[in-house]
Amino acid sequence: MPNVQVRCTVNNCYFWAQENYCGADSILVTSDRAAREYPESVDAAQTAMIVEEIGETPTPTCMETACKTFKQK
Ligand code: SF4
Repeated sequence: MPNVQVRCTVNNCYFWAQENYCGADSILVTSDRAAREYPESVDAAQTAMIVEEIGETPTPTCMETACKTFKQK
């Protein structure tokens, strides 16, 4: 399993940690289009379900991706 360090500037997220690190165990990034089809914030079980359902969601630019693990503080 890859071990990726995520830096994030969204400091009103529950998982945001000091020095702009993401403190979540894992995150789900999808296309904006796919993100709109699911609840605003997803937990690990919902992440597994979404990945199983939608599989791959290519986008032409980084501006069309979204972190679905975001949860407002
Ligand atoms: S869950 Fe997403 S929005 Fe929240 S800190 Fe991590 S990367 Fe940023």
